Amino acid sequence: VGSGGMSILRFTFLGTSAAQPTIHRNLSGLAVKADADLLLFDCGEGTQRQMVRFGTGFTVDAVFFTHFHADHYLGIIGFLRTLGMGGREHPMALYGPPPARRLLHQAIYLGTEKLDFPVEISELRDGDVVERGSYKVRAVQVDHRVNALGYALEEEERPGRFDLDRAVALGVAPGPDFGRLQRGEAVTAADGRTVQPGDVLGPSRPGRKVVLSGDTRPCQKLVDAARGADLLIHESTFSDDEQARALETRHSTGREAGRVAREADVRRLVLTHLSSRHDVDHSRLLAQARDEFKGPVEVAFDGLTFEIPLRE
Ligand SMILES: [Zn+2]
Ligand SMILES: [Zn+2]
Repeated sequence: VGSGGMSILRFTFLGTSAAQPTIHRNLSGLAVKADADLLLFDCGEGTQRQMVRFGTGFTVDAVFFTHFHADHYLGIIGFLRTLGMGGREHPMALYGPPPARRLLHQAIYLGTEKLDFPVEISELRDGDVVERGSYKVRAVQVDHRVNALGYALEEEERPGRFDLDRAVALGVAPGPDFGRLQRGEAVTAADGRTVQPGDVLGPSRPGRKVVLSGDTRPCQKLVDAARGADLLIHESTFSDDEQARALETRHSTGREAGRVAREADVRRLVLTHLSSRHDVDHSRLLAQARDEFKGPVEVAFDGLTFEIPLRE
């Protein structure tokens, strides 16, 4: 039992279009506020303008790339320039599957200006975990035309609820001893008896879990990673009548995304990465996903923002 998990877990969709931007949708980008951290998942061209538009701020601590198709990462070039001009000193962490090191290095050192803040590039493989205090980000191998990862953002388990009345009834003096019990330490009551944390704390509460597919065919590793997740963000590039295209380009249909959500028994499904054909009218994608998954499903749009509440 650690610090008690994150307080805020907020998602802002910055880009929800596949392959090319449209009037309504920018290329892939997702901002995640996790406690004090601001993370980006993918950074397609134009992502920095979307961050201005939707008010996420620029104080990004880490960027996780799902893969290195141009529509998922070219935005990092301009974004790092902007941060450099803004006088940033705080280090920036960049994560992605190989060849992240080579491609991101090129992107960072393109042009003649040099960055005044450190940029650390790390390559991730299936199962690798990035620990970030009260939560972690785990890489999940997915199935796309190039080496690609999905990500599972998992909050640590939170301690059980503190029963104040019970603590007082057992003779614990309000004050520092309450904090000790909440941190898992035993204390001595007024009558000299020992009070254990288990006497006054409820069962520990599961942390939140959110899983992002990136670009992929439906895949078992993702189903396993998403088991029981609060939220699954799954790509949904095509509809049923484009199944052949989905297979050929290693993308998913809305129906397939729904199936993954059902098999993983997630609590909520958000579809994203829409081909231009579904840009405005995404009713087919939604209906086909709903055929498979009976929980709440929605299609993301640029600017969609929500928080994932704590689990009780
Ligand atoms: Zn893509
Ligand atoms: Zn791709």
